[in-house]
Amino acid sequence: MSNPAAPHSPIRHLDALLASLRGSEGALSLVRSLCDDVGPRYPCTPGDVAAVAWAKERLREAGLANVRSEVAPAQLWERGAESCELLLPRRQPVVLTALGGSVGTTGAIEAEVIELGSLEELEAAPQERVAGRIVYLHHVMPRRRDGTGYNAGSLVRTRGPSLAGKKGAAACLVRSVGTDSMRAAHTGALFYEPGVAQIPSAALSIPDADTLHRHLAAGRTAHARLVLECKPLPVGESANVLAELPGTDKADEIVLVGAHLDSWDLGTGALDDGAGCAIAVAALRAMAALPARPRRTVRVVLFANEELGIGGGLAYARAHADEAARHVAAMEADQGDGAPWALRVPEGARDGALTRLLHESLAPLGLELDAGPSRGGVDISPLRQLGVPFVDLRQDATRYFDFHHTVNDVFDNVSPVDIAAATTCFAAALWVLANADERYGEAAC
Ligand SMILES: [Zn+2]
Repeated sequence: MSNPAAPHSPIRHLDALLASLRGSEGALSLVRSLCDDVGPRYPCTPGDVAAVAWAKERLREAGLANVRSEVAPAQLWERGAESCELLLPRRQPVVLTALGGSVGTTGAIEAEVIELGSLEELEAAPQERVAGRIVYLHHVMPRRRDGTGYNAGSLVRTRGPSLAGKKGAAACLVRSVGTDSMRAAHTGALFYEPGVAQIPSAALSIPDADTLHRHLAAGRTAHARLVLECKPLPVGESANVLAELPGTDKADEIVLVGAHLDSWDLGTGALDDGAGCAIAVAALRAMAALPARPRRTVRVVLFANEELGIGGGLAYARAHADEAARHVAAMEADQGDGAPWALRVPEGARDGALTRLLHESLAPLGLELDAGPSRGGVDISPLRQLGVPFVDLRQDATRYFDFHHTVNDVFDNVSPVDIAAATTCFAAALWVLANADERYGEAAC
């Protein structure tokens, strides 16, 4: 028999917290402000500096304590002008964008384009087939709710350039790691292996990549002309922004929620990760407005420089290593505005009382308990080796990779309904973690 009335939560004020967030436009208006008042936030640009000031102001307005910034190194890079034209089998403009960290072309590169279907195929290809040519890597990312498929795609993007460089390729192109069919290329970081020739590398928009693929599959010869004026710059400084909702009887224990404040330069970082920042700030603001404080301290960290080098996440782990054992849970919101559909808890904790309580609190919001262990996000990943337990809310990524890392990552593509749902779920999970009798990771401390 189902009970039409929502069960009263054993966690005090949780029902009031959920009621205060029902239909709220809090996160939506925060992400709108971040996009319109700040804009793109690539590290060490004026937008990045403005974002740090913006974040501090919003966190103070939210009623949080200990609002501060902490220096984080940032790997710098400039995109510059970029263009590409297919010369053979027929002249046609191609939409592409440089991969983050790529070297430029020093003038134009004109060469034959050859296709390889995977990193393994590239590894197996004879050097004489690759040398002097433009390597195109045709890897297709599937559209899935859980976003799996992105990791395999990003591996091709990060590793492909050095593998091609080892064999003397003139340049490396990848099919955008995305799920749309628009002529907007998806950027993203590459990784040059030390000691390997660094070659110019870019992502083709998916329709352009597929056109090239069809030509080559039909046995036609393809030539392209490529100009990339991007260049790596010296390491600079950005900042993580922190704030806290202080706890009461367990104030020494920290429940952390993170998102990243930096964005790629192409859009305004509305979904990646303006939405995550807005979700985290709106969730804490709603908690701060409750008539009582949480038992544990809830800390929000808006990380610097996630996109090219995890500078912010690494700096936080270094600066807070001494208090790592006091971090009883860490969560991250970095899947855009996606409405959460599953809860993931640390390995071995699936049958415990805290997981039961979390799941009971989140099930009415539509969340199931995932079979796999929690993994955390990129920014909090350096905390794993310090023994910090992660709690994941798996956000619906069905639409996310249509816009991710493109010019279309803008406010118009944020769903008001989904971002409100995500804020409610994060707030509920954080409130339970901050108030439950139990905690995760006693063994790790
Ligand atoms: Zn992100």
